[in-house]
Amino acid sequence: KKIIITIDGYSSCGKSTLAKALAAELNYVFIDSGAMYRAITLYFLRNHVDWNVKEAVVQALENITLEFCYSEETNSCEIFLNDENVEWLIRDMVVAENVSEVASVREVREFAVEQQRKMGDTKGIVMDGRDIGTTVFPDAELKIFLIADPAVRVERRFRELLAKNPHITITEVKANLETRDYIDSHREFSPLRKAKDAVVLDNSNLSMKEQLKIALKLVKE
Ligand code: C5P
Repeated sequence: KKIIITIDGYSSCGKSTLAKALAAELNYVFIDSGAMYRAITLYFLRNHVDWNVKEAVVQALENITLEFCYSEETNSCEIFLNDENVEWLIRDMVVAENVSEVASVREVREFAVEQQRKMGDTKGIVMDGRDIGTTVFPDAELKIFLIADPAVRVERRFRELLAKNPHITITEVKANLETRDYIDSHREFSPLRKAKDAVVLDNSNLSMKEQLKIALKLVKE
């Protein structure tokens, strides 16, 4: 039986959706590692922390507690920043526009990765992100690298964000995904990469049910 499953890939490939479904099916814990970087970004923006200044970052991180708590309403784990549920707030465009820069800071990554590794201690988990199979859990039993056509990804994210912000434009969403993917795959500390032993799954033309079936088959192999 697999214990740690990692799902990595570019922005808006549907990693969290698949990870959540897979975790529910296996009765594992689902962890959205991107939510941690987003929550840290929200804290930095709110408190005017300059993430280019190492001392400011170190000091700010000392005041940040991140926790995932199960919510019955949404039937999934939601992120709490210093006891405040920020699951909805971190999906904001201003967070999306700054998160990749914040996530490139070495101290921020060390802070997040340490907590992510601890989450793998207890029971089976499915964690999605950018460097989970390469850096956080290099020995994970199953690694999936999810890919999808850029146009499909933009369309998906656009529809998702539209529900929250009726003024959002497809151009804005496309630019944000391109910028994040570029920064995420070019940063110095654990850039986005496919782990050598990861299975590539292209979900451009797959329904959720079909993806889940493939993933479950991989779990059983
Ligand atoms: O997964 P999501 O798109 O919510 O992640 C937001 C951002 O957090 C990514 O664009 C990336 O900059 C950062 N991230 C990361 N490493 C991870 C997960 C997310 O750097 N493991």
